[in-house]
Order: sequence, then structure tokens, then C-alpha cells
Amino acid sequence: MAVKGIDIAKGKWPSILAHFGIHVKRNQHSPCPMCGGKDRFRFDDLDGRGTFYCNQCGAGNGVHLIQRKTNWDIAKVFREVQKMAGEMPSGVIPQKKDDPEKRRRLLNETWNGGKNVSPDDTSGK
Ligand SMILES: [Zn+2]
Repeated sequence: MAVKGIDIAKGKWPSILAHFGIHVKRNQHSPCPMCGGKDRFRFDDLDGRGTFYCNQCGAGNGVHLIQRKTNWDIAKVFREVQKMAGEMPSGVIPQKKDDPEKRRRLLNETWNGGKNVSPDDTSGK
């Protein structure tokens, strides 16, 4: 089962899979979403490519998981994953919300920490 990864989905697999009702935790043994069991399945997400290994099903990636779950053909899985990944912000870590108050304080500190420039100032030369 050699299916190449989908670049646009890199690092987004846990969220993508969750959309399909497949909940995975990185590097934790868990029941296989495809064949069950108790701890035969491990989502290792190598290189952010959604890879897994199951003692029963073998190795694969997120595309396989979704395909088995939905019974769609591989082309449709690719299309849907690409669409979904394209709508997601890039990167694994969600962006921290900017705190305007903290930002203002930092800017003020920077401003107040500055020196007035005088003609005999030699710094920066
Ligand atoms: Zn399995």
C-alpha cells in the first residue's frame, strides 16, 4: 500500500482525522480505528505525515485511515483531505492570540528605554 503523503496536510493529520471521527494520539498505543483491539495501534505521525502502525493492519498513513473509515476511493480521500487541509491554518501549533495590552506595554517599554540622540552620540557609527 504505497500511497504518498499529501504535502498540504503535513502536521494537520490529527485534526483532519478528527473530522472523520478518527481520534488519534501521537505515539500512544491504542485500539486500532480500523480493526479494533486494545493497544495494537500506534499513530506515530512521522514527519507530520499522519503515519501509523497497526500490528494487524500494518503500516500506513492518514489517507488509509480515512479510506477504511469512509470506504471512499483513494482519489476522493485525497480531494477531501486537500480541501480540508487548505482551509486550516498552517503549522501544528495553534497561533497564540495576540494580547493588545501586553503588546502596548512592550512597545512603551521599548520607547521609554530609548535614548535621545545627540550630535556627539557615537553609538551606531
Ligand atoms: Zn488495525
